[in-house]
Amino acid sequence: MTMKPGERVAIVGCGPVGTVLALALYKNGIPVTIFEQEPGTVKDQRAATLHLTTVEFLDDLGVFEDFIDLGMKAPLYQFGDRQTGKAVAEFDHGVLADEVRFPYAFQYEQYKLVDSIVAHIGDTTDVEYRFSCKVTGVDQTAAAARVTFENQDGETESMDCVYVVACDGARSTVRDLAGIEFEGFTWPERFVKIATTFDFYAAERGYCTRNFLSDPDEWCNLFHVPGENGERIWRTVFPVKTGETDEYVLSEEGVQARLQRFFPKEGEYPIAYKGLYPVHQRVAKSFNAGRVLLAGDASHANNPIGGLGMNGGIHDAVNLAGKLHAILNKDEDTALLDRYSRQRRKAQIDGVQAQSMANKKLMEAREPKERARQLDEIRHTAEDLELHKAYLRKSSMILGLQAAESVQ
Ligand SMILES: Cc1cc2nc3c(=O)[nH]c(=O)nc-3n(C[C@H](O)[C@H](O)[C@H](O)COP(=O)(O)OP(=O)(O)OC[C@H]3O[C@@H](n4cnc5c(N)ncnc54)[C@H](O)[C@@H]3O)c2cc1C
Repeated sequence: MTMKPGERVAIVGCGPVGTVLALALYKNGIPVTIFEQEPGTVKDQRAATLHLTTVEFLDDLGVFEDFIDLGMKAPLYQFGDRQTGKAVAEFDHGVLADEVRFPYAFQYEQYKLVDSIVAHIGDTTDVEYRFSCKVTGVDQTAAAARVTFENQDGETESMDCVYVVACDGARSTVRDLAGIEFEGFTWPERFVKIATTFDFYAAERGYCTRNFLSDPDEWCNLFHVPGENGERIWRTVFPVKTGETDEYVLSEEGVQARLQRFFPKEGEYPIAYKGLYPVHQRVAKSFNAGRVLLAGDASHANNPIGGLGMNGGIHDAVNLAGKLHAILNKDEDTALLDRYSRQRRKAQIDGVQAQSMANKKLMEAREPKERARQLDEIRHTAEDLELHKAYLRKSSMILGLQAAESVQ
């Protein structure tokens, strides 16, 4: 690569979306600098599910084979009724085997994905990491952009670049600096995640790798994830009830009480980690403003039921890398970036936002008749092969990508 420093793309945020974007640009011969405020990659225990569409992209980028043996293939997922303890509907990605390359979701924690990508890129001056560097300013002219940041010594520095991509998460500084509105709302309740080494297969409730258990009082999502040093982990996610304080929810007493309510057992649960999260449904008004571009949580945030947030962000990154390649390497028109915004906003609004809100509604439905109707509907969907396939095309984000592709 022969580009000068000012011809690099600046990526703000070394999370899953920033690193996938860096890899995709690097593979297209575009040098990048990634700014990350933390001293290294972050051990973020949020996402763990990669949908089959995302696995295909990661395979196209040549990185999936690096970790295929380290994660867990999850062909099945289940909707259940926590009140009766019974499964209501089970979906099998295997029914899509003749139309997709990877007929399963893949369980691999997001921090491992980030580290796998950084290792895959290896040591090259074309991907520069600026850790402990917090971006505080972004300026642009028609010809260039400039990123200002506080460096590891607390000094203010700046770097010129061709484009700045905000991959700096839902509270994006870059989005705010560009004056782009983050439209939508924040749910009143927060979600708590509690991970345990207790093996929920021992509960003998017929759980599979990914389980979504509806309950008007306290729904639960339950996932099996690879964990560390060969020790498998089960993650649970619950809504926080009105009146519960953060301190209580995350206290040993609060955590144990929640798991014991879910599956009463003798002795305490061994806790691996826990976290409390605000929950949003928001989409940026635009994903581009001149030379400033948004991707991942910086451009959209959704409740995590269904595991769509990071996946959608990776889809943004792949789409955007293709457009920057066309503009920077093939002299195509920068109007492509308006199309990026239109395409990915549609995938978000009609796909991820709608789907994640429908998932939440199914988990928490309170009115008995409406709850029974929703559970009957999902049961019927799973039992009918064509509806089953159609549902999986939606939940694994095939339809969202197709809808985005059709946007000019
Ligand atoms: C409980 C839970 C479970 C989830 N499970 C799933 C799942 O299974 N599948 C799924 O698809 N999604 C899931 N998500 C959502 C997923 O975690 C996010 O969508 C994903 O982390 C977004 O990635 P990102 O790279 O856009 O942003 P982030 O992961 O938030 O990374 C942003 C990075 O930018 C850095 N940064 C921020 N500001 C600055 C600055 N000014 N200068 C420099 N660096 C900065 C941060 O330190 C951070 O490293 C889940 C979320 C929750 C809460």
